[in-house]
Amino acid sequence: MGRVLAVANQKGGVGKTTTAINLASSIAAAELNTLLVDCDPQSNTTSGLGLVKDPERISTYHLLMRMAGAEQALQKTELGKLWLIPAHKNLIGANIELVDAERREFRLRDALAPLRERFRYIVLDCPPALDLLTLNSLVAADAVLIPMQAEYFALEGISELLDTIERIHAGLNPELTVEAVVLTMFDDRTNLAQQVTAELSRYFGDKLCKTMIPRNVRLAEAPSHGKPALIYDPRSRGAESYIQLAKEILQRSGVVQEIRAEERADEKQVVNAPRWKRWITEKNKLITINIQDR
Ligand code: ATP
Ligand code: MG
Repeated sequence: MGRVLAVANQKGGVGKTTTAINLASSIAAAELNTLLVDCDPQSNTTSGLGLVKDPERISTYHLLMRMAGAEQALQKTELGKLWLIPAHKNLIGANIELVDAERREFRLRDALAPLRERFRYIVLDCPPALDLLTLNSLVAADAVLIPMQAEYFALEGISELLDTIERIHAGLNPELTVEAVVLTMFDDRTNLAQQVTAELSRYFGDKLCKTMIPRNVRLAEAPSHGKPALIYDPRSRGAESYIQLAKEILQRSGVVQEIRAEERADEKQVVNAPRWKRWITEKNKLITINIQDR
């Protein structure tokens, strides 16, 4: 069964979409079937992967309104193992249209259920609000990844998010946990960033990811080329930090351990088989992603 990870924080512009795109791409680059679902009417994940706006295309809206099945909404991407369910700004309507609907918080969970065997990882990019769309994502998810910036007011609003997660855990989705908190747009040269990091580390303990995502212009440029950073510039610090984050998340969620157990169970399989590696060439540069080397 695939693991569903919601990338959520109701604060705007903290790096949810950048994290969703680049984490999902890095997992896919490790040869794991990965699905990215755009749950935000802003549709930044969709355009960030190079899809032009098209209200006719089957998207998250159609899944939530039960007008189409998830299988019909799948879009291929440049990475062979990465698939996308796109969004369109019409998704904003679902927030209102679903108010009185039956199983309104379970619509995304129900829609994705048939795909959970097919994908090892399903990453959900949430909008910057604790609305019905984020609620649907949290009900569909096994775990939440919270991107945050190391700034003075970083913790403001986080208790509201944690309360929401707690309420969903207690009622609608008892499986839901906080996978981790990841610091984005990090600049370790400032004293403030270091002080805030120390405070966040006290607050979140080992939920705070060891991997921190630096501020890196390549991460900001890549979406305008419709590419994840590891295709746009695989050697950039931004791309490398997300590959590192993918390794950490796969380790934290137990997926690396699961893969090792599967390899042991499958006698024909050579340990460290190349299927867990992927080489991406760009201008003769090579990067290797091996999820087992941690
Ligand atoms: P929203 O709440 O609107 O959905 P978000 O939380 O998804 O926003 P992003 O869109 O990922 O945030 O990032 C906000 C802006 O910061 C974007 O312009 C993005 O390109 C830029 N950005 C994100 N992460 C980085 C980074 N590590 N280095 C440089 N720029 C970044
Ligand atoms: Mg976003």
